[in-house]
Amino acid sequence: VIDLHCHLDLYPEPAAVARECETRGVYVLSVTNTPSAWDGTAALAEGSPRIRTALGLHPALARERRAELPLFDRLLPLTRYVGEVGLDGSPELRGSWDDQIAVFLHVLQACSAAGGRAMTIHSRRAASPVLDMLEKHADAGTAILHWFSGSPAELRRAINVGCWFSVGPAMLCSAKGRAMAAAIPRSRVLTESDGPFAQARGRPLYPWDVATAIEALASLWGVDARQAEDQLARNLRSLIIAEQGFSEEGV
Ligand code: MN
Repeated sequence: VIDLHCHLDLYPEPAAVARECETRGVYVLSVTNTPSAWDGTAALAEGSPRIRTALGLHPALARERRAELPLFDRLLPLTRYVGEVGLDGSPELRGSWDDQIAVFLHVLQACSAAGGRAMTIHSRRAASPVLDMLEKHADAGTAILHWFSGSPAELRRAINVGCWFSVGPAMLCSAKGRAMAAAIPRSRVLTESDGPFAQARGRPLYPWDVATAIEALASLWGVDARQAEDQLARNLRSLIIAEQGFSEEGV
């Protein structure tokens, strides 16, 4: 089971969740919403080789945490993973749009200068501007659009731009989300919980709840859960290879 976008540090008992992931053998990309959360969140992964920590600055915090960009730059050499970053075009965040653009631009330029990173990207109500910026910064690394909710045309464009997609139980419980997931090439799909923000039946999702997303994907793909899990494991390997700058064929 692979959870490529989880806010491990925001559960009430983060250390217990990290231990449970280790016990269950769940691979987790533990994202941060601010550079100042890096130290505490990275500490949760100590002794857990399946947990990797991503350095982020969430678009909803772009205005109040923009001053943490120098800290982002200092920490970037410590990790190959960046997120949660991106843009959010929701009406309540309109006032911070210029800060969001400045922060995301800075992140993409820093990733380019550092040789590229795997980036888990938020694009709610902002798929087109996110894709515009990714196109202009193709050497920033591998973009994984998390919980993508753009239009079918934006999805086609994202596929053409080379994006990957992480889908979770919350996305796959709606017909629209399932239709979106079905339209993504199987080789570009990964799974996520987005816990504890994302919920199911009124409870926060945990990384191991990704198992229900695997079952949903299996039914979309017309395969059994084991075959779906194998496909997702192959995808994670090829994502890591792509992110390291090797061609899939060359390894
Ligand atoms: Mn998130």
